[in-house]
Amino acid sequence: MARYIGPVCRLCRREGIELFLKGDRCFTEKCAIKRRGYPPGQHGQRRPKHSDYGTQLREKQKAKRLYGLLERQFRNYFEKADKMKGKTGDNLLILLERRLDSVIYKLGFAQTRRESRQMVRHGHFLIAGKKVNIPSFLVKPGDVIELKEKSRKVVGINEALDAVVRKGIPAWVELDRGNFRGVIKAFPSRADVREPIQEQLIVELYSK
Ligand code: SF4
Repeated sequence: MARYIGPVCRLCRREGIELFLKGDRCFTEKCAIKRRGYPPGQHGQRRPKHSDYGTQLREKQKAKRLYGLLERQFRNYFEKADKMKGKTGDNLLILLERRLDSVIYKLGFAQTRRESRQMVRHGHFLIAGKKVNIPSFLVKPGDVIELKEKSRKVVGINEALDAVVRKGIPAWVELDRGNFRGVIKAFPSRADVREPIQEQLIVELYSK
């Protein structure tokens, strides 16, 4: 599946917020948005104009970039969310949260979603004992995600896990740090999604 491979700090500067796409570096003074807190490009320092459409577009771009998706993939999630019962915006965010790469990131096996996606692709995880290497796999309550035995000594993974134990994880998942295992306790609710996204703006954009 295609993915964005350009400079990620540029995406934060474009959206005007920290999207935390680079792990530890995002918490240091080297963070590009702290050093150059204006959009990239020749006209980046001009005062931006905010039409309704522009505001909605930026919100969609922000959500898409947070979850590391391309336009077609993001649009497919929206269409799926629109067909589900309940609020489309809530459904959209819940679907995005349920992606395996996002869950791996939330459980703390990786410092960024980009890193977790790569780990999933490389087959580091088992679900119910079977290898799953599809980042878009949607988890459900009862799923047990386990890091493969041979990956448990990787220093980067252990550091990321130690960091998440300090920071905390969402209530709908549970981490068994000692056994390198995560359990999905329930479907996430809108309140569990901490990403700074105003989903209503995305619904308005796609409903035009
Ligand atoms: Fe965004 Fe992290 Fe780069 Fe800062 S260091 S601009 S938060 S990706």
